[in-house]
Amino acid sequence: MAYLEPAPLKDKENPFEAMMTRFHMASQILGLEEEIYNVLKNPARQVIVSLPVTMDDGAIRVFEGYRVIHSTILGPSKGGIRFDPNVNLDEVKALAAWMTWKCAVVDIPYGGAKGGVNCNPREMSAGEIERLMRAYTQAMADVFGPDQDIPAPDMGTGPREMAWLMDQYSRNKGMTTHAVVTGKPLVMGGSLGRTEATGRGVMVSAMAAMEKLKINPYKATCAVQGFGNVGSWAARLLSERGLLVQAINDLSGAYYNESGIDIDKAIQFRDQKNGSLEGFDGAEKINQDDLLTLPVDVLVPAATEDVITSSNALNIKAKLIVEGANGPTSSRADKIINEKGIVVVPDILANAGGVTVSYFEWVQNRLGYKWTADRVNRRSDRIMKDAFINVYKTSQEYNVPMRIAAYMVAIDKVSKTYKYRGGY
Ligand code: NAD
Repeated sequence: MAYLEPAPLKDKENPFEAMMTRFHMASQILGLEEEIYNVLKNPARQVIVSLPVTMDDGAIRVFEGYRVIHSTILGPSKGGIRFDPNVNLDEVKALAAWMTWKCAVVDIPYGGAKGGVNCNPREMSAGEIERLMRAYTQAMADVFGPDQDIPAPDMGTGPREMAWLMDQYSRNKGMTTHAVVTGKPLVMGGSLGRTEATGRGVMVSAMAAMEKLKINPYKATCAVQGFGNVGSWAARLLSERGLLVQAINDLSGAYYNESGIDIDKAIQFRDQKNGSLEGFDGAEKINQDDLLTLPVDVLVPAATEDVITSSNALNIKAKLIVEGANGPTSSRADKIINEKGIVVVPDILANAGGVTVSYFEWVQNRLGYKWTADRVNRRSDRIMKDAFINVYKTSQEYNVPMRIAAYMVAIDKVSKTYKYRGGY
């Protein structure tokens, strides 16, 4: 097929290259027509705004903000807003496409988008961040909308910023509009179960994969990289399901206990220590790099991107990798891992529990009703399990790794819908 250049295989990829490599492979296997490939490759809309904000010292600083809507083929677009000094349009474009595939894999009626503002929230006061968030929302008032484009938190933003966004948008439209954004505080339309949703989805897909691989959870060992929201919830829920979590880590170091780490104790320790595991005495400290290559059955990278690379992939001993983080494995490492026969539940499937419960938040806001945590969990577990089975079946049918199968499922769904909807 005469697609444009296949992305090169190298370890230090930017997110756009990482996504395109997989998108390209999956499209080829599906035999996607070139014109549809081009439709799906290019973002539908890219908005760049300039945001003048008065800082606390009275000076006016101008920030650049982006919103990229990759696709609205399956429904209104969905994706977080990143406040970070390294935000750039290329990154936002890749992350927007990533959202399209993620929503399609779990079969929720959303397209994909992503937003970002080039700023350093760690060096800004709460007031400055609030003014910046309001300025960004105002500039995007015609882009956002509960039936158009629904933002959410990402790096550098959280429930507080989403509350400001909801308020500013509502003022602009002259009516309270909860469903314009997800990830809001619980008291103003947030959903029960959202905090643990991503880690819970990691657990559900890990359990489903272990069933296929005939790994008995009560005899399985596990290492979790990253002990933030995703990693600590995944570790807690996996240990509740019988796995022995032997290693955890965060930026302060890696912690190993052959007889298993008491995860509740580690969470309690972290929460008392300002979010860090530094000084945790329920395990011995080991080398950071060694966590990924421990002889465990299940490895959960849940910290950051590009941690499994061609330099350490050969030494990985786990039978199963469940990607809690976005993009933890480089495409070059993919090749080595596949050759070793390690099964990978890819990010766009394994960590989609978060966007699934975001979708439930939007559904509840539109219903004007609140579900119990139990209802949220049961429904998201079912969506995650169904998505896993669908991707697994595709991987068996086409004899491809689950990562490529997940992209195939997503691309197939979006391209078929595009054909039904038709173009000009
Ligand atoms: P977080 O900030 O709560 O936690 C990140 C954790 O990783 C921290 O414990 C940090 O110390 C650790 N960490 C960071 N870099 C590390 C490194 N190089 N080595 C070891 N530890 C490191 O973030 P989070 O919300 O848990 O997100 C983690 C990953 O999951 C990210 O890739 C994120 O994009 C992805 N993700 C998160 C969600 C969500 O709902 N929070 C949803 C989908 C995907």
